[in-house]
Amino acid sequence: MSQATLIDGKATAARVCGRIGEFVAILSGRKPGLAVVLVGEDPASQVYVRNKKRSTEEVGMFSIEHKLPAETSETDLLALVQQLNADSSVDGILVQLPLPKHLNSNLVVNTIDPGKDVDGFHVVNAGKLAVGDPTALVPCTPFGCLVLLRDLGKSLSGQEAVVVGRSNIVGKPMAALLLSQSCTVTIAHSRTKNLAATCRGADILVAAVGRSEMIPGGWVKPGATVIDVGINRIETESGKTQLVGDVHFDSAVQVAGAITPVPGGVGPMTIAMLLQNTLRTFCIREGVAEPEPTLLGVPC
Ligand code: NDP
Repeated sequence: MSQATLIDGKATAARVCGRIGEFVAILSGRKPGLAVVLVGEDPASQVYVRNKKRSTEEVGMFSIEHKLPAETSETDLLALVQQLNADSSVDGILVQLPLPKHLNSNLVVNTIDPGKDVDGFHVVNAGKLAVGDPTALVPCTPFGCLVLLRDLGKSLSGQEAVVVGRSNIVGKPMAALLLSQSCTVTIAHSRTKNLAATCRGADILVAAVGRSEMIPGGWVKPGATVIDVGINRIETESGKTQLVGDVHFDSAVQVAGAITPVPGGVGPMTIAMLLQNTLRTFCIREGVAEPEPTLLGVPC
């Protein structure tokens, strides 16, 4: 059987970032600013924050980092968020999740000015996305998945899309985005009765579960487009750590029409879309036209 087309998220992310960099380079006044807040020393979060800072600077944006100790009080964290809300040099604010357990993540996220909420997690932006309001700031990972799907050049309208996972940061916004593109959308989750049959009905299958290789090639409809959001660390027989997705790549690649690899698929798009969202909030605040990609019906 023929192999699926590999969807190269690294190349698409480089293209998006290249375009952002060109736009930022010719700005005559101040540069867009992204503030990232990290509380505690979670190793994975430290890597994400480091990568975000590097990518922000690579496109010529202004990066502000606030690293706070794990025992930071909620009052102090909320005060910092308010300070960043009021800072006119800051266009985007991102509080790295997960937060230490004594902090209320919802309260912190919903204290961010919705106009600076570049993660798109604020309830105002989630609501706007749900009602198809084009001014919504869209969560970066599903936004990146949509850009990859649009990049394939096939119409999404009328396609059967199945999203496995219903989290607020990936599954639900992904489903809303696919609906905005006129897909027929099914959201599956841990209580879905016949997950295999549900997946087999998908022209577009998005896996956002967090379980290593749980979706085998046998659940993939021949010719389907598979977007694997999962990032799971497993130990190989030789004792090395390897990154794998939620889809069993080796079997799925034999059946799918197109598929994202892990790593190198969705992952690089998440940071690219964070920068795109920051550029977007900058453009809105400065009253200048945003370069593509935009969303919700407008080309991306
Ligand atoms: P969550 O743990 O918040 O959500 C997982 C979802 O999967 C839940 O809705 C859960 O269902 C569902 N689920 C769990 N087990 C099963 C099962 N056996 N069958 C069907 N559904 C199941 O995860 P996230 O949405 O935050 O992340 C999902 C994956 O995406 C993770 O691997 C994460 O690392 C990755 N990720 C990757 C990013 C990237 O940049 N590429 C960014 C963000 C996440 P229920 O609601 O019923 O419990």
